[in-house]
Amino acid sequence: MRVHFWGVRGSVPTPMSSIQLRNKITAIVQRITPNDLKDEDSREKFIANLPQWLVSTVGGNTACVEIATRDNQTFLLDAGTGLREFGRLSDNPSNEFHMFFSHFHWDHIQGIPFWGNFYDKKTVLHIYSPWPFSVKILAKQMSFPYFPTLFSASAPTIHFHLMKEGVPRQVGNVKVTCIKMPHPGASYSYSFEENGKKFIYASDVELTEMDAKTKEKAQKLFCNADMLVLDAQYTIEELLRKSNWGHSNCCHDVDFARSCGVKNLYLFHHEPNYSDKDIFNLTQTARWYAESDSAPQKSKISIFAACEGMDIEV
Ligand SMILES: [Zn+2]
Ligand SMILES: [Zn+2]
Repeated sequence: MRVHFWGVRGSVPTPMSSIQLRNKITAIVQRITPNDLKDEDSREKFIANLPQWLVSTVGGNTACVEIATRDNQTFLLDAGTGLREFGRLSDNPSNEFHMFFSHFHWDHIQGIPFWGNFYDKKTVLHIYSPWPFSVKILAKQMSFPYFPTLFSASAPTIHFHLMKEGVPRQVGNVKVTCIKMPHPGASYSYSFEENGKKFIYASDVELTEMDAKTKEKAQKLFCNADMLVLDAQYTIEELLRKSNWGHSNCCHDVDFARSCGVKNLYLFHHEPNYSDKDIFNLTQTARWYAESDSAPQKSKISIFAACEGMDIEV
């Protein structure tokens, strides 16, 4: 399966500000030497050697991840504002979509009213969630006075599929399983297994709030995952101030991912107050933390910041 990140930010959409852009340009200009401007090759080399936070951005859209399965199905995990970008930019020709919801906080549903395919009568939308009233909840955000178009008036053909925690559901060739995780009002993490590969989506989870039973269930679900997308919103210091807010820290993520034998960890649901530099620093901290404890019995893990536009073959 192929995974594409359309929205990776937590809580609220976060466009880059003029000051942030100017700061990047200033930092780049300060690094230039006359040799870097000699010819096209030296200019390209200069750009290639700049730190990632200067030449790229994690992006400001809220949670939306696409899975293109090997049997040509389109899964969409959460419907934050990244869903709008999926509708605008994806070259996916399908008009049938399988949408899985972790929960219904604004940052996970706000893309639906701005999603082009939602206004196409040919669209067939399968909604999966363990909440029986999911469609009603989604319809509420598209009602007066919050939005000019009613959910019912613009809706494509919708099929709702009730998920049951821990009970696998087959969607085409993909086995999908969800479990309840600690978050205010609860959230669900999903496992997607196809052709011997396992992908986990675990947004909005507070790992430090897991009780023993939940931890055991999560370790079973996450076990040996090829790719794990995991909430890493806060620094340790901020997590201490914001305990019970429902989010995790990258070092707890590393410990937990390793305890499950995860191969590739993608830090996700980035804090809106953090700059690109903060988020890439946090990712480097996670890598150093993993390297600092590289006892032979510990599994090897690769760690990345989830960034808008990333496309990964699992
Ligand atoms: Zn969220
Ligand atoms: Zn949430």
